[in-house]
Amino acid sequence: MDTQALNLDKSIPLTVVSPRNHFVFTPLLPSASVGTLECRCIQEPVRTILGSNGSYLQAKARTLDTANKRILCESIHNELFEVEYDKLVIAVGVKTNTFGIESIKQAASAHDDVFFLKHLAHARAIRTNIIDSFEQAAIPTVTDAERRRLLSFLVVGGGPTSCEFTAELHGT
Ligand SMILES: Cc1cc2nc3c(=O)[nH]c(=O)nc-3n(C[C@H](O)[C@H](O)[C@H](O)COP(=O)(O)OP(=O)(O)OC[C@H]3O[C@@H](n4cnc5c(N)ncnc54)[C@H](O)[C@@H]3O)c2cc1C
Repeated sequence: MDTQALNLDKSIPLTVVSPRNHFVFTPLLPSASVGTLECRCIQEPVRTILGSNGSYLQAKARTLDTANKRILCESIHNELFEVEYDKLVIAVGVKTNTFGIESIKQAASAHDDVFFLKHLAHARAIRTNIIDSFEQAAIPTVTDAERRRLLSFLVVGGGPTSCEFTAELHGT
């Protein structure tokens, strides 16, 4: 595969294929998850960034056919289609690393009160859960034990993201 540096000038049409239709400024995700910032303040639509010079397709690249310079894509609604390319840039990022603790992944998919913090959707879900927990805790019939459970938050990990999230939650 040709991996030389690309010199993209504005006359070259671009096609962006990504399931996420926006760029997200990840360092501010902890702020968006507690409401210090609104989600819309930390994202930029891909189409705005591309302007009139490119097109955007909300899909995942599934199979790469380098011989015929084609990618098989799958839209987020499971429709399959092909995109032809002249030059290809692959920048699909990485999955969240749980450092071998598989039960975290299982818990995040099985329970509606366990979250990762990597995408805007996670920040929205955490924020909704925090608001719901406080509202539920304010209901007079809720027992003290249940109120304590509702208002207890556990942050897994001790890196920058978890420290920033903990500080944001504490300051809210
Ligand atoms: C909460 C948080 C805070 C952070 N803070 C900092 C910081 O302060 N400083 C710093 O330097 N870094 C920070 N980072 C790390 C930084 O966000 C990442 O290093 C950076 O986003 C990686 O960029 P990327 O383009 O490689 O991948 P990503 O930003 O993950 O982008 C990958 C894109 O590819 C798309 N994609 C995935 N699979 C496919 C597919 N099959 N087909 C098509 N598209 C696909 C995804 O939808 C996504 O749009 C932080 C990360 C997080 C989560």
